[in-house]
Order: sequence, then C-alpha cells, then structure tokens
Amino acid sequence: MAKLNLKYATMNSGKSIDLMRTAYNYEENGYRVLVFKPRCDTKGGEYLDSRIGLKRKVDLLIDDDTNIIEEVRGKYTGLLKCILVDEAEFLSPKKIDELFILSKVIDVPVICYSLRTNFKMEGFPGSTRLLEIAENIEELKTLCKCGATARFAGRKVNGEYTLEGENILIDGEYNNIEYVPLCGDCYLKKVKKIDYKNY
Ligand SMILES: [Zn+2]
Repeated sequence: MAKLNLKYATMNSGKSIDLMRTAYNYEENGYRVLVFKPRCDTKGGEYLDSRIGLKRKVDLLIDDDTNIIEEVRGKYTGLLKCILVDEAEFLSPKKIDELFILSKVIDVPVICYSLRTNFKMEGFPGSTRLLEIAENIEELKTLCKCGATARFAGRKVNGEYTLEGENILIDGEYNNIEYVPLCGDCYLKKVKKIDYKNY
C-alpha cells in the first residue's frame, strides 16, 4: 500500500527543485503526477517557483475546506504515479491526516515537502503532524556558511537577525526580509546570541 512520505529541510534548501525534478522524471516516462500546495502560500501564485528559475503549475491549491480526497478520487486512474505537496508546513494537521488517508484510498504515494521549524526553531502545525504520521521521513540537506549541515533558518530584517515579528512572513513579498540556513551552532551564536561555551 502506498505511503505518506515527508521530505523536510530548512529554508532555501532546494525543496521545490527536488519536487520539480521528481515530477519531471515521472512525466518524462509517460506517467502523471499531481502537484499541490496550500493556497495561503502566495509566493508564485498558481505556480511553484525555484531559485534556479524552474517553474511549474500547481494542480490543486489547498484551503482548509478543500476535500482533497474528493478532488482526486476517480479522476486520474491508471497513470497517476505520485502526488507532490510543496510547503506542506502551511497545511493544517487535518489536511495532513487527509493526505495520509488519500495515499491509501487511491494507493498512490504522497510526498510532502516541508520546513521542519520556523525562524524561531518552532514547529509548524503541519510539519509537526507530518513528523508524527509520515511513514517515510527524509532530510534534504543544505549547508550553513560554516560548512556544517544547516537545520535551522534565521530571519534577517534589514540585514540583522531577529526573533521578532509574525510567524509567517514570506520572503520576496517584503524586500527587507531574508532567511538564512544555519547550523545549530551558528543559530545559537548569531540569532540567539548565546555563547554556550560559558554555560
Ligand atoms: Zn554554521
């Protein structure tokens, strides 16, 4: 039976690129894939955008009242090989549960791409639910400037790290906001300003 899969990473780690490459590989071989994302992720509108210029139309924008199973069941029999969900951290736990059920109802794997935590090192409701119920979990690695694996993201406003502000501010919509992938060590030093050597 098909599974709910989670691929998680921090900001700017190439999640959308991995998603689009997966879609391309299936489609090149004549299979159908569907791409979903939460409607509240306004970046790119109905398209997935990547930093290297790849673009792809989204098949379904998910709201909290979208009945995902009804949107898919019976419509794509046979050639549908995979459902790919971008920015899954923005989905509610209820929608994550629905994706789990969907993978069984249609016996097609669902792969959710998600951040694990926000810029404060706190889980999103969607990513936390995914970590609880995904049947396969894979980390997509990216590097911190120091060379270690980055597992966190710092928010910079006007070039300075901050822990202030709303939980969700999408970069690109605000000129002065950027997210920087950081390892745990650099996160403590640069964002939390904690000198742990004195603990
Ligand atoms: Zn580092």
